[in-house]
Amino acid sequence: MNATSTHTRQVARVVRGQPTSDGAGVKLTRVIGQRELDMLDPFLMLDEFRSDQAGDYIGGFPDHPHRGFETVTYMLAGRMRHHDNQGNSGLLTPGSVQWMTAGRGIVHSEMPEQQDGLMWGFQLWVNLPAAAKMCAPRYQDIAPESIPEIQPAPGVRVRVLAGSVDGVEGPVSGVAVDPLYVDVSLAPGTRFSLSLKPGHNAFAYVYAGSAHIGAADASQRIDRGDLAVLERDGDDVLIAATDEPVRLIVVAGRPLNEPVAKYGPFVMNTPEQISEAMRDYQSGRF
Ligand code: FE
Repeated sequence: MNATSTHTRQVARVVRGQPTSDGAGVKLTRVIGQRELDMLDPFLMLDEFRSDQAGDYIGGFPDHPHRGFETVTYMLAGRMRHHDNQGNSGLLTPGSVQWMTAGRGIVHSEMPEQQDGLMWGFQLWVNLPAAAKMCAPRYQDIAPESIPEIQPAPGVRVRVLAGSVDGVEGPVSGVAVDPLYVDVSLAPGTRFSLSLKPGHNAFAYVYAGSAHIGAADASQRIDRGDLAVLERDGDDVLIAATDEPVRLIVVAGRPLNEPVAKYGPFVMNTPEQISEAMRDYQSGRF
């Protein structure tokens, strides 16, 4: 390929989220981390939770451990309280993001702080490279007003949670896989070109309306609840609204290309490390 030409990434495949439940009976849609798409290196899991029926979310996620990766919660609606065994606590409100690096181990709870109303958001699991899996736990709790929103064109709004868009940097910093995480809103009939780092895996998940993704001559229509896995090669992705407003998240990161051993809330490189994680957790060493 000519080094000076721009290659627009096409949609490599489309994945439909699967309804499931997790925690204490929280109903959600699992998009990454299910049979159709086990992972998209370095992304291990993507859940969308969205319900205005309290019974679908009120049980929350009581105390549970994590080791070896990062959990990223982005709230669209509702309030979620988190607590952990190191004395940290915080409230996630609409438009906020929490980037938690579990590292060598943490035990926390994530519980709804509302009795009714809409609870809507995403949890993404991001893998850590082998060399960082046993790092000290770290939180980045980012308030809605600390997330920059740019308007590259009329009718186009982009919130930059992590990475940079048109020179505007998101507030999340120091993450191993050099992630991009944006929340895009397009008015009917508008379009947006988003730069992506060559070689980084990327996906787009449409959570309202429908979009056409990819170069105009070969774009695919992606509907609400569908995830578009993008080709790995290429410099940007083109997103066009249909005749209704569309909202989607686009996430990219550097693939680790390392072995993955996964068991529930532990994600390591070998089965031996998983056994060690279980022993450490059961003997209270988190
Ligand atoms: Fe958790």
